[in-house]
Amino acid sequence: MSEPLLDFRQDDYRRLLERFIALGYDFCDLEGLALGGRRVFCRHDVDLSLAHAMAMAELERRLGVSATYYVLISTEIYNLASAEGREWLKQICSLGHKVGLHFDATKYAPEQAALETAAQHECHILETLSGEPVRTLSFHRPAKALLGLEGTFAGRAHTYEPRFFRDTAYVSDSNGGWHYGHPLEHEAVTQGRPLQLLTHPIWWMHDEPASVVVAMERLRRQAAARQRLAFAATVKSYGQWVAQIDAD
Ligand SMILES: [Zn+2]
Repeated sequence: MSEPLLDFRQDDYRRLLERFIALGYDFCDLEGLALGGRRVFCRHDVDLSLAHAMAMAELERRLGVSATYYVLISTEIYNLASAEGREWLKQICSLGHKVGLHFDATKYAPEQAALETAAQHECHILETLSGEPVRTLSFHRPAKALLGLEGTFAGRAHTYEPRFFRDTAYVSDSNGGWHYGHPLEHEAVTQGRPLQLLTHPIWWMHDEPASVVVAMERLRRQAAARQRLAFAATVKSYGQWVAQIDAD
């Protein structure tokens, strides 16, 4: 098996946004898609790294672009209630972006009523942490039943509603490639119609070609290093052992 590579670069993303700007596209939020015309909804699902998402948010800000960052509450990978997570939320909002809930339905019982209650709880947590209303949500690795689900979910618009997903052009960089075709070659864009553009910061925010495995291992080691410090800060004798090991 050949080793999968991260093919996109930070510069590619900047050039993509510059093309949309040159084509006269406005960067809207999810509900803005319904207005029609040259509108692009820049959606980011943050599955793995707040740092990569921040790099993307800063790049967008430099171009005057606003996007919506969908974040997980139930993940083991990052913690938005940590000091770092709360600072991240504050920065994202101050850069002019919106925050939405990225909801992982697999963490709960599958009945829709239970899922909506859980999503509501997660939205409230996110609103408390960010100090901003959470108006929209996206599903993390959605089951078929959630793709194209009619109407709002947990009282909020969601990105897989038919009006934003099936009836509006949709392009995604899932797994690091344009599996629905390149966004600029999409019929909707050549005809000046709205587009939902889903990109994951993890695939883009590097300057050189990189191996997916190497990039994931680097992230995992950074997370392990943060956990080690947290354990060391909590249990004195362990902290002394860590300090001793690190000094050797
Ligand atoms: Zn996801």
